[in-house]
Amino acid sequence: MSQSFGPAPRRSTRSVKVGNVLLGGDAPVVVQSMTNTDTADIKATTQQVAELWRAGSELVRITVNTHEAAAAVPKIVERLAMMGVAVPLIGDFHYNGHQLLAAEPACAEALAKYRINPGNVGFGKKRDSQFASIVELAARHGKAVRIGANWGSLDQALATRMMDENAARAEPWDAGRVLREALIRSALDSAERAVEIGLPADSIVLSAKVSGVQELIAVYRELATRSNFALHLGLTEAGMGSKGIVASSAALAVLMQEGIGDTIRISLTPEPGQSRTAEVIVAQELLQTLGLRAFTPLVTACPGCGRTTSEFFQQLAQRVQAHVRERMPEWKMRYPGAENLTLAVMGCVVNGPGESRHANIGISLPGTGEAPAAPVFVDGEKTVTLRGEHITESFIALIDDYVQSHYSPNAKESVHAVGHPSAP
Ligand code: SF4
Repeated sequence: MSQSFGPAPRRSTRSVKVGNVLLGGDAPVVVQSMTNTDTADIKATTQQVAELWRAGSELVRITVNTHEAAAAVPKIVERLAMMGVAVPLIGDFHYNGHQLLAAEPACAEALAKYRINPGNVGFGKKRDSQFASIVELAARHGKAVRIGANWGSLDQALATRMMDENAARAEPWDAGRVLREALIRSALDSAERAVEIGLPADSIVLSAKVSGVQELIAVYRELATRSNFALHLGLTEAGMGSKGIVASSAALAVLMQEGIGDTIRISLTPEPGQSRTAEVIVAQELLQTLGLRAFTPLVTACPGCGRTTSEFFQQLAQRVQAHVRERMPEWKMRYPGAENLTLAVMGCVVNGPGESRHANIGISLPGTGEAPAAPVFVDGEKTVTLRGEHITESFIALIDDYVQSHYSPNAKESVHAVGHPSAP
């Protein structure tokens, strides 16, 4: 009996163009992030967008909440272009997006996508007209729109109406189910209305974020079943540190395993002093560990135990991971495919040689009481044994050599040229 293995095929969604990035359809799942600078501070925002892009963010969202912020947007885009940073910017609008976009046409033009929240685009009678204004502006400027419903700012009029409808049911649903349905309806009905107003369906991305893992999975399964709009996945208010990483990964992994999701954002609260780029690295590692995309070589390392009484192997694993991440921007240009390299740093002879043989390059360090020698395995074969004080430098040099010899298009060409009968 055959057993399925790996993520399910992606659910068929519409392909959406956001600046120079395609998401949905057959495109790979796109990584995005968001700045936490005051957008009116052109210098700080430009710098943070560039940092996020360099870390691998393929789309970056910025807050557009005041006239100063809206006026800053085209200047930020101009500065980024001068720096060679070609990342599409998404404007995040709440309450006054219709006014800002109308008053600052250069901002409306400079952004690649507008994010609007149907729960707070406007209230009472003004809600529909303000929603229509933003959608019309997006259609006029040829921009994509994310209709992003959120548990924390659910359309209250819709929620109340649905609660009343539920009370009239012969068998009423529980309140949680009614609110989940209200969130889904808020996103789907708003998308339908945007299409009626004139926004092409292939300019629309949907999201419906909640902060609970099980709720998020339930909501997105419904969204994916009931529409074919491109979907932005993210657990809202994921939290800080390991809690935020685990909660986001748990929810997004289940959905992406089922083929749901076209772009992801990890809403991590940065720890004091932590770089904003942590959310990009988590998003990339999540996609890579699920086997959906490859961004940078990842190091397999054992956790260590009573057989490793020194911290050396932890330091080596950390140095190797930092080294490959640092080199990856250059490798990406010069050595295409290097992101697929697999590495192992192991603490002792118990699992060290075995795990190292499974990697492209692995090292099995000596545990406590073992001879002070570290065999290195390349593509399953033991090639050298490192000893002494310079194991780290020597191992890193072996990785660099491997990348150059295995992923260099020139190296392959020259091997081919030498061996080919017609070579000059
Ligand atoms: S490989 Fe060795 S050091 Fe690492 S966890 Fe296993 S037994 Fe411990």
